[in-house]
Amino acid sequence: MRISQELLDEIIAHAHEDAPNECCGLVAGRDGNATAVHRARNSFESPLRYEVHPQDQFRIMMAIEDAGEEIAAIYHSHTKSEAYPSQTDVNLARNWPDPVYLICSVANDEPVVRGFEIREGGVAETELEVQG
Ligand SMILES: [Zn+2]
Repeated sequence: MRISQELLDEIIAHAHEDAPNECCGLVAGRDGNATAVHRARNSFESPLRYEVHPQDQFRIMMAIEDAGEEIAAIYHSHTKSEAYPSQTDVNLARNWPDPVYLICSVANDEPVVRGFEIREGGVAETELEVQG
């Protein structure tokens, strides 16, 4: 998936603002290109897990559909651990296997964003082609 540095910076900023809790949201896209970052509330307001707030999910999905785009990715942050899916993340992805999962770690000084496909309990890293 291709994503601009500007959009990655938006995700990183969200992660910093919501720390120590995990942040989450959706990334809109078209033809494999990320086009917009939509922030959502984390229902759990927790440093250990996240759920895209159902009201936000509905609102954002409508906005993405209205724009003629699709959900390219779901993002969330890890504030204490590396940018790799936890078992909780793998379990959660069973309900929604299609999007790329972006995980932004702000556990260290240098923020890291990585992308994964999480399907049927398996995790595969997907390359992020960062532009600009
Ligand atoms: Zn996670």
